[in-house]
Amino acid sequence: MALKQSEKLFAAAKQLFPGGVNSPVRAFQSVGGHPLFISRASGAYLTDVDGNNYIDYVGSWGPMIAGHAHPKVVEAIQDTAAQGTSFGAPSPLEVQMAKQLMRHLPSLQRLRLVNSGTEAVMGALRAARGFTGRPKILKFAGCYHGHADYLLVKAGSGALTHGRPDSLGVPESLVEHTLVAPYNDLAATEKLARPHRKDLAAVIVEPIVGNMGCVLPKPGFLEGLRKLCDATGALLVFDEVMTGFRVHPGGAQDLFGIRPDLTTLGKVIGGGLPVGAYGGRADVMKCVSPEGGVYQAGTLSGNPVAMAAGLATLKLISTPKAHAKLLHKTERLAKGIAEVAQRARCRVQVPYACGMLSLFFSGRPVENLDDAMASQGALFRRFFHEMLARGVYLPPSPYEAWFVSLAHGENEIAKTLRAAKDSFLTLAKENG
Ligand SMILES: *Cc1c(COP(=O)(O)O)cnc(C)c1O
Repeated sequence: MALKQSEKLFAAAKQLFPGGVNSPVRAFQSVGGHPLFISRASGAYLTDVDGNNYIDYVGSWGPMIAGHAHPKVVEAIQDTAAQGTSFGAPSPLEVQMAKQLMRHLPSLQRLRLVNSGTEAVMGALRAARGFTGRPKILKFAGCYHGHADYLLVKAGSGALTHGRPDSLGVPESLVEHTLVAPYNDLAATEKLARPHRKDLAAVIVEPIVGNMGCVLPKPGFLEGLRKLCDATGALLVFDEVMTGFRVHPGGAQDLFGIRPDLTTLGKVIGGGLPVGAYGGRADVMKCVSPEGGVYQAGTLSGNPVAMAAGLATLKLISTPKAHAKLLHKTERLAKGIAEVAQRARCRVQVPYACGMLSLFFSGRPVENLDDAMASQGALFRRFFHEMLARGVYLPPSPYEAWFVSLAHGENEIAKTLRAAKDSFLTLAKENG
């Protein structure tokens, strides 16, 4: 596998971008080695600048649920772009998009379109604070909600305290209103919230986590958060930027039958172009400018080309049949990986939901950030490179979810399982 062109480009990129990349996890820092520069992608496959092909399980970190360069999506983008790429005025595709989103997620009584998941979360939480007149936000360790200052906080192991920033450049005063609880621990969450119940504007959660690897909510956890919010007057915000239109046509909220007050979306709804959305209760969304006093705006929001890509993608994915297929593929892959690992005597956990899964080298179930961090990252690093050498491109970190698309067929899954079997055997040999 020659990687000359990727190496050359990365050397050049390091002189241009911090760490040679425009988003940190792309740099391969948690697995070592050089990132691949991708020249093209089609269906389930990526091709790098050296001409190597890979079965792709990153899927641009979620958006490419219909597969890369799906002809219907490409056609929609081309046709729409030919009519003008941005107007800075209302256009019909925004209305179509909003109707599609509302049809599948009835909790969205009003919504606002933005350009990224980060922006969607910032808008939703500002609306929650504006509506409630309260300052505090409760989040969970290991959940990622974009890179807004006050959300770059996760508690140190087991610490249930006021936030401490994870990033330089975030003054402590900006995170003083951020509370961090352990995922899946309702008792700890209630205890943390109790002294702040009159100040709590929102509880924000990934209803299925994708950002510490794939971690499923324990039965009763999300229901408990709904009750906590009802009891305190805080708004329940489901961050479905990753799970929306992936785990179920109606998102995790439909899958679990829980109605959040606000929802954030992104990734899939842009079909590979930059889109985000936030929305929910009409009385809350009425607070958003120009109807209300919570300011939020965007030069390119509701961009017609992005709407076209998103609508074409939603058309392909948002049917029960498409989702049944995607779930079946994901199940085959997750169960297959657990099986070949077991045969090689590697102790792993492979949690999954429709269209997403992850691999933890751990002997016990992963329920929260501490469990995820306790898994053997070093083994994942080895596994990642073994898989890459066999033509399978996994997320370059043990703490990210793998994404399956409609374009992953029986062939790709069988090939992936063969590569996994050989990779586990190699690891088992090395570790005695
Ligand atoms: C990706 C992600 C975000 C941030 O979205 P961007 O488009 O990268 O800004 C927010 N929340 C969740 C759950 C995500 O997975």
